[in-house]
Amino acid sequence: MKVKTEDSKRDELNLISLAQEYSSDEKARELLESKLWPNGAICPHCKNDGKTKPNSKLEPKAGSKSAVRKGVYFCGACREQFTVTVGTIFEGSHVPIGKWLMAIFILCSSKKSISANQMSRMLKVQYKTAWFMLHRLRHAVSPEMPLNTLLKGEVEVDETFVGGKGRLCSKYRRQTPVVALIERGGNMATRVVSNVTQKNLGAALHDCVSKDATVNTDEHTAYRKPLKDWAKHNTVVHSRYEYTRRNKDGTVSGINSCESFFSLLKRGVYGSWHHVSREHLPKYANEFAFRWNTRGLTDGERMETAIGMVTGKRLTYRQAT
Ligand SMILES: [Zn+2]
Repeated sequence: MKVKTEDSKRDELNLISLAQEYSSDEKARELLESKLWPNGAICPHCKNDGKTKPNSKLEPKAGSKSAVRKGVYFCGACREQFTVTVGTIFEGSHVPIGKWLMAIFILCSSKKSISANQMSRMLKVQYKTAWFMLHRLRHAVSPEMPLNTLLKGEVEVDETFVGGKGRLCSKYRRQTPVVALIERGGNMATRVVSNVTQKNLGAALHDCVSKDATVNTDEHTAYRKPLKDWAKHNTVVHSRYEYTRRNKDGTVSGINSCESFFSLLKRGVYGSWHHVSREHLPKYANEFAFRWNTRGLTDGERMETAIGMVTGKRLTYRQAT
C-alpha cells in the first residue's frame, strides 16, 4: 500500500489547480512531461534517455512562418520524432491533455467511481469519448497479472456476485462472481471467474497469494482443497453468525476487509454504472482495487500514481469494445 507523503506541498494536483494552472494545452503538456520524464525526455522508440545522446525539442526555424507541432522531440540516438504521449494511453487521442488530466483526477478522487455519462457532462466531451477515456484509464491502473509482489501475511479471500439484469430467476443466472484477495493492511487483487469452483479459486490464489500466508475465508467448501497448499487456512462460519474470531495465538479470523471492498464495488455497479457486462467487470473491479491499494494517499498523490502507470498501456477502441 502506498502511504501519504509528509510534505503536503507536493499535493499540487486538484480540480482547482488543473483548471487554473494547467488548462492550456502547453501547460498541461509540461505537467505531463514533468511527471513522466522527471529527468528529461525519454525516446519511446529506443528508450534513449538523452544522457549521452541528447534528445532535442523541435523549435521553429528562425524566420520560418510554418508552425511546429507542439511538444515534439527529436531522438539523439534513433533520430525518430516523439512526444510525451507516444506509447501511453493518450496516444492517438484527440482529447486535449488538460481534459485527460481532469479525467484522471475525477476517477482517482471518486470513491464509488463515475459513469461515462457523468464524465461526458463534466468534461464536455461526447459520451462515446468519455466511455473510451474511462476504459483507457482503467486499463492503465489495472495491476499487472500475475502480480509482481504476491500478497502475504494475513490474507482474506471471499467472493461475491455482481450485476445481473431482468426478472429474479434470470437475474441470478446472469450474475458474475468476483473474487477479492486482500492482504490485511496491504494491497489487494481481484479476479472475475466464470464459476466459484475449486479450480477457479485455486488459480486465483495461486496467482495472487504467497504460499506462506495465512488465508482467511468463510466456510465455502470450494476453498478447502486448494488451500491445503498454503501455510494456514482459517475459516469463519457465517451460517453460525460468526464474522470475526479471536484465536488463541492472537490472530483474528474473518473477512471483513473483503466485505468492505464488495460494498464499495457494489455501490459503484448499482450507483454509478447501473449495469456492467461480464466482459468489462474485471476492469471495473481493478479500478476499485487501484483506489483500495492507494487508500493511504491523498487524491492528488493518487493521481500522480495513476499518471505514472500510463506508459506502455496503449488500448485501441477495438480492444476496448
Ligand atoms: Zn530513439
